Amino acid sequence: SAAAGLYASTHPPVPLPVDPGLSLVPHIFSRLPLGPPPHSRPCLLDAATAASLSRADLRRLVASLARGLRRAHGVRAGAVVLLVLPNSVAFPVAFLAVLAAGGVATTMNPSSSRAEIAGRLRDTAPSLVLASPDNAAKVPPSAAAPVVLVPETFHPSPSAGNEFAPFRALLDSDADDGLPSAEVGQDDAAAVLYSSGTSGRSKGVVLTHRNLIAMVELFVRFEASQYARPACDNVYLAALPMFHVYGLSLFAAGLLSLGSTVVVMRRFDVGDAVRAIHKYKVTHLPLVPPIMAALLRARATGASSLESLVQVSSGAAPLSGKLVQDFLKAFPHVDFIQGYGMTESTAVGTRGFNTSKHKKYASVGLLAPNMHAKIVDLETGLCLPPGSCGELWLHGPAIMKGYLNDEDTCMRNDGWFQTGDLAYFDSDGYLYIVGRLKDTIKYKGFQIAPADLEAVLVQHPEIVDVAVTSAEDEEAGEIPVAFVVRRSGSHLTCVQVMEYVAKQVSPYKKVRKVIFVEAIPKSAAGKVLRRLLKDSLRLDAAA
Ligand code: ATP
Ligand code: MG
Repeated sequence: SAAAGLYASTHPPVPLPVDPGLSLVPHIFSRLPLGPPPHSRPCLLDAATAASLSRADLRRLVASLARGLRRAHGVRAGAVVLLVLPNSVAFPVAFLAVLAAGGVATTMNPSSSRAEIAGRLRDTAPSLVLASPDNAAKVPPSAAAPVVLVPETFHPSPSAGNEFAPFRALLDSDADDGLPSAEVGQDDAAAVLYSSGTSGRSKGVVLTHRNLIAMVELFVRFEASQYARPACDNVYLAALPMFHVYGLSLFAAGLLSLGSTVVVMRRFDVGDAVRAIHKYKVTHLPLVPPIMAALLRARATGASSLESLVQVSSGAAPLSGKLVQDFLKAFPHVDFIQGYGMTESTAVGTRGFNTSKHKKYASVGLLAPNMHAKIVDLETGLCLPPGSCGELWLHGPAIMKGYLNDEDTCMRNDGWFQTGDLAYFDSDGYLYIVGRLKDTIKYKGFQIAPADLEAVLVQHPEIVDVAVTSAEDEEAGEIPVAFVVRRSGSHLTCVQVMEYVAKQVSPYKKVRKVIFVEAIPKSAAGKVLRRLLKDSLRLDAAA
C-alpha cells in the first residue's frame, strides 16, 4: 500500500500475453483487424504528399521486407540493424521489418554528425545500415555494415533514380507472403534505443520484445480503452521524431496495433503542422513542451483554432503550469493530458486522465497498469508516503533488461529501476515530477530544484523562455544561474531579473547570475540541454 511506501497502479491489471515465443510484430498484427470500413482507413499517411499505406499494405510490406532482410543480408536473431532515418511512412515499416526478421533495431537522430554515426557503429556493431539518401554520405563505409538507401514513400515517381533499386529488390515478393519465422521470443532483445543524453552521455537501452509488447498494451492500447471514442477514428499527427522512444512507441508500433491513422511529418514545422491538422482532420497530438509553445505563438498571431483536435498530450520534459493554462485558453475545446516515461521504461510510466473529479494538469498522471513505484528518501533510503519527495523508482514489465555493454547500471537485482528523477505522489495516486536528481543545485548545503526557479521566471511578462542551472562557486559550492530569453524589444536587465525572483523565493534560492541568450538549446525530443549550458559556464570561467 502507499502508506508502506510501495505504490501500485490504481488501474486494474491488464493481462499480458504469456506465450514466451511471441514477438512484437506478430503481436501487433494479431491486434490489428483487416477488412471493410472503418478498417480500410490508411494507417500511415505522409503529411506532405498524402501518399498512404493501408493496414494490408503495412502487413505486406513489413513481411516482404523482413524476408528480404533475411534473404539478402542474413538478418537473423541477434543481428543489429542501424536506422539513420528521418520520419517517413517507411520508418515504421523498416523498424518492424527488422524485428520481424529476428533482428535488433537501433535508431539515432538522422542529423547526427559523421563522428556520432561512427561512434554508434562501434557501440552497436550493426550488420546493416538503413539510411535516407541525404544522410547516407555520413555513414563511414564498412564491409561489415553495408548501407541500403530507404525511400521516403513506397510510391516512387517514375523519374526516381535507381538509388533505391537495392531496397526495392528486398521487397520483391517470393512465393511466401507471411512473416518469416524469426526464432525470437519475448525475452530476446528487439531494440537498442538511446536515452536523450540530457544528464550525460546517451546510454544504449536494450529493450526486449516483452518490453515492447508491454508498452503496446499498458501505454497505447490501455489509454485508448479509457475513452468512448473508437480508436480507429483517431488521427494522430506524428510531429515527434521516431528515433526517440516516445515517437517510436506511438507511431512506429503502438498506434499501428489500434488501427488509428498516423499522419507523418518529416520534421516539425509549426506552419506545416497547422496545415496538416486542418487537411487531415487530426484529432490527437502528442507533443513536447517547446512544440506546445510554438503552437501557442502561432495561435496568437492568427493561426487557426485547430477545431478537429480532441486531445493534446505532452511528455518527455517538464511543462510549466503557465504554458498549460495559456494553451487551454487558446484551444479551449482540447482535452489536455501529461505523461511521463523514459527510454529505460519503453516510454511507459504515468499518464494523466482528467476525469470530471480531477483536473490535475501539473501532475504527470497515474501509474500505468501493472507498474509499481517507490519514492525513496535520498538520505535514509526509506520509502516515502504521499506528499513526500524523493527519488522515483519503477518496477514492471516495460522496464529494460539493462544498458548496452553494461554501462553504469541503475537496475537493482530485484528489478527496480532508479529513475534519477525527484518526484512525489499525492493521496489520489497522481505523480508530480520535481526535477532531476543530477540537476539539483546545492547552495551552501541547501537543495534547489531548477524547475522551482524556472516556474517563477516564466511568469515574467518579458521573459519568453528560461533554463536554470548551477555554476560552481568557491564559497557556496554551487549557485543558481538563469539563462533567459527576453521578449523581442525588451530591455530587461540582469539586476531586474534577479530582483524579480528574490521577491518571490526564500533567500537561499535567489538567482545569483543571469545570462541573456537568443534561445535555450533543446534536443529533438524537447529537452533543455543543461549540459551544454553548464559547459558554456565552464568555458566562461576558464576564459
Ligand atoms: P539521459 O538519461 O541520457 O540523461 P534523458 O533522461 O533525458 O537523457 P529520456 O529517456 O529521453 O532521456 O527521457 C526520460 C526523462 O525525461 C525522465 O527521466 C524525466 O527526467 C524526463 N521526463 C519525461 N517526461 C517528463 C514529464 N512529463 N515531466 C518532466 N520530466 C519528464
Ligand atoms: Mg535518463
